[in-house]
Amino acid sequence: MDIQTEISLVPYTTFHIGGPAKYFCVAANLEEIKQALQFANAKALEVFVLGGGSNILVSDRGFNGLVIHPQMAGLELVNEDESSVLLKLMPGEPWDTAVEYAVNHNWWGIENLSHIPGNCGGFAVQNVGAYGQEASFVVEDVEALDMETLDVINFANADCKFTYRHSIFNITDKGKYLILSTTIRLSKIPKPNLEYGDIKKYFADRQIVDPTIGQIRQAITEIRDSKFPYPAQAVNGNAGSFFRGPVISADQLKVIEAKINQDFGPDASQRLQGMLDSLKVPQGYKTPTAFLLELCGLKGYQIGGAQINLSQPAIVLNATGTATSRDVLQLKDDVLDKVKATFGIELEVEPELVGF
Ligand SMILES: Cc1cc2nc3c(=O)[nH]c(=O)nc-3n(C[C@H](O)[C@H](O)[C@H](O)COP(=O)(O)OP(=O)(O)OC[C@H]3O[C@@H](n4cnc5c(N)ncnc54)[C@H](O)[C@@H]3O)c2cc1C
Repeated sequence: MDIQTEISLVPYTTFHIGGPAKYFCVAANLEEIKQALQFANAKALEVFVLGGGSNILVSDRGFNGLVIHPQMAGLELVNEDESSVLLKLMPGEPWDTAVEYAVNHNWWGIENLSHIPGNCGGFAVQNVGAYGQEASFVVEDVEALDMETLDVINFANADCKFTYRHSIFNITDKGKYLILSTTIRLSKIPKPNLEYGDIKKYFADRQIVDPTIGQIRQAITEIRDSKFPYPAQAVNGNAGSFFRGPVISADQLKVIEAKINQDFGPDASQRLQGMLDSLKVPQGYKTPTAFLLELCGLKGYQIGGAQINLSQPAIVLNATGTATSRDVLQLKDDVLDKVKATFGIELEVEPELVGF
């Protein structure tokens, strides 16, 4: 096990922002992870588990502790019956490789999650989701190491307490476990989920009525790639959606709609109506965050090198390739203030802030 010092985290993040890790360890197996944790315990260091770095913002000062980067990769078919398979995902495997593998085998359940950056170890953490599919629909169980006791614990789906972009791994037990593997159940029986407007339009334009799983993956990758580059580049680096509103009830959504109608006119209110399908999540409705930012006139708003994305304003870009975390956080403060003043809604930051 090799523990390096003062390693820049910039190339390990899709934002391409941040200072160095005081200590950094690429761990090839469970034994190396345990040794790294013992090293951290002996020095009373804070530990951060780094996957693909696609959902974090690292401070310009860096992280004054030990970063563990699990490298164990691979996908394993662990069980199969007539209608489903159980696929075990190792934490260092790139997420999209798992999607491609499943699609190539005609296993349904994660095809709409094509081209989401990051590694499989991060999949359960924020209940990754897009285009009507999410981790909670497929996760069978998660095997994780308690970083304090070094016990390996198995969490069934219900134990993970998945809600919109949340699980125990980023709420109640944040920073407590290192995920060693995630097993997902995929269906051999076709289960296309084509409800989202962008997907409907894609297939309508091409007059495809009953798309194959391969065609669905193709559609999702084309739709996503037209919005942001995959994989992320240094210029226009980003961490996906940076701002996230609360999940709200149908009544709360009506209040927002009335406010939009009153202050921004019936056209804006009609646009909101057109988004309702894509806002629906199991617990209610997502706040239409990107739309609220647009109505606040924040598209393209820039502080230093950090800029609100023009086509999808919930995303903050490292527009110059030289943005600092300070730029991003100043921009964040302005956005939160403006949205609060205009709509009374408190947005949250979605990526984890590391080293602040
Ligand atoms: C362009 C772009 C588009 C995106 N689109 C989406 C989207 O549509 N839907 C969506 O849900 N997300 C999206 N994201 C966010 C991100 O891709 C996901 O959250 C992804 O799962 C993060 O995985 P990661 O390996 O990069 O995790 P990291 O960014 O490295 O870490 C994120 C969090 O997970 C923890 N973590 C990572 N690995 C482990 C592990 N093995 N054990 C314990 N904790 C771990 C980290 O400690 C940290 O708290 C997008 C990001 C980008 C850049």
